[in-house]
Amino acid sequence: MSCRMERLLFLILAQLLTTATCDIDPDSESEENDEGDMPDHWTYKDQDWSKGYKLCKENSQSPINIDTSKTTFNNKFPSIIPEGYNLPETEQLELSNNGHTVKLSLPDSMSISRGFTQKYLANQLHFHWGSATTSGSEHTVDGIQYAAEMHIVHFAAKYGNLIEAAQKADGLAVLGILFQVGAQDNKNYNPIFDKLQDIAAEDAHVYIPGFDISTLLPDQLYRYFRYDGSLTTPPCFQTVTWTVFNETVQISQAQLGKLENSLKTAHGTLDSNFRHVQPLNSRIVFASFSPLSSSRRIVPKEDSNAPAEANKSVDSGHFTLGDTLAVIFGILFGCTVLAFVIYAIRQRKRQRSSTERGQKVIYKPAATMEA
Ligand SMILES: [Zn+2]
Repeated sequence: MSCRMERLLFLILAQLLTTATCDIDPDSESEENDEGDMPDHWTYKDQDWSKGYKLCKENSQSPINIDTSKTTFNNKFPSIIPEGYNLPETEQLELSNNGHTVKLSLPDSMSISRGFTQKYLANQLHFHWGSATTSGSEHTVDGIQYAAEMHIVHFAAKYGNLIEAAQKADGLAVLGILFQVGAQDNKNYNPIFDKLQDIAAEDAHVYIPGFDISTLLPDQLYRYFRYDGSLTTPPCFQTVTWTVFNETVQISQAQLGKLENSLKTAHGTLDSNFRHVQPLNSRIVFASFSPLSSSRRIVPKEDSNAPAEANKSVDSGHFTLGDTLAVIFGILFGCTVLAFVIYAIRQRKRQRSSTERGQKVIYKPAATMEA
C-alpha cells in the first residue's frame, strides 16, 4: 500500500515539475499612427530617419523593450474597456496597403476612456510583421521579439481629428497587441487576413463589412504596460500614450504567412516593417498588474494546442496559467502528504491493536487442485 502511495506522490511531483518547466520556457518575441498621410520617403531598411525627421532621435521614442523587472506597478490603471467596438455589418471599413503596412480604417464611434485621463476615439488599426526568417513585433518584452504586432490608433476626442491630435502632447493613445504563433487559425482575424490578397498592390484598397473589433483583443484587458512614447514611423511625434497588453493573441503560421507574403510595394514584398527598439532613457514603464510571483511571462490568449517552440512566452509578473496549475498541484501534493500521514498513523494504530489482540489469520491458500 505504501508503495502505491509513493508512486502516486512521484507522479504528482513529476506533473508539478513538468507544468512549471513548460510554462516558464522563454522564447518569445509596437507605432501608432497612420504613416500614410505623411511624406513617406523613408524605409525600414535604413532606419536613420532623423536625417529627414529630427524628432526621430529625441528621448521618448517608440517602440521600446519592456524590461518587466523594472516596471512600476500602478493600481490606478483599471481594465481597458473598448466602447462601440462591435460594428454593424452595414459599416464599411476600408482595408488598404499604404506601402508601409496593411491598414483598416475605423469609425470614431469606437472609443476608449477607462484607464485614460480623457476620451480617445479610434481612427485605424494596422500591423507590423517580420519575414520567414525574422520575428516582427515592434515592442519587445524582456528582450524577446514576438511574431507580429497590431496597433489600434486612437486620438484625443477634444482635438477633433487624428492629424490635429498627432502633434499634441496628449493627442494619441495606441493599443499594442503582440502575436504568437499557435496551432490553429484565429478566425477572428479572417475578415482581415482573407482579404490581404486583394490589396497586394501598393495603394490598393477594398471595403469589408463591419465586425466585432473587440474580438481582435486579448482576453485580459486588465493586464498591460503603460508608457509615454511616440509614433514608430516618421515623423515620430512623441504624443502617444502607449498601452501594450501583457497577454498575447495567437494566430496560425498560415495566417502569419499571409501577413508576411501578401503585400507588395514598388520594391518587392512588404515585410519586416518594424522599427528597432529605442532607448528608454529616463522614462518609467508602468504595469497595471502586480508582480505576484517571481515568474513573469506573457500568456497567449489560447495556448492549448500550440507547439512548445511556437508558444513563445516571457516572464511578466503575475498569476498565469502555469502559476495556477502549480498552485493546484501544490495543494494536491499537500493533501496527498496529509492523507499519507493520516494513513500511516492509522496503520500503525491498527498494527498495534492487532498485535495486542493477537494476529488473526486471514490468509487462506487457494485450492491447489484445479478442475
Ligand atoms: Zn504601428
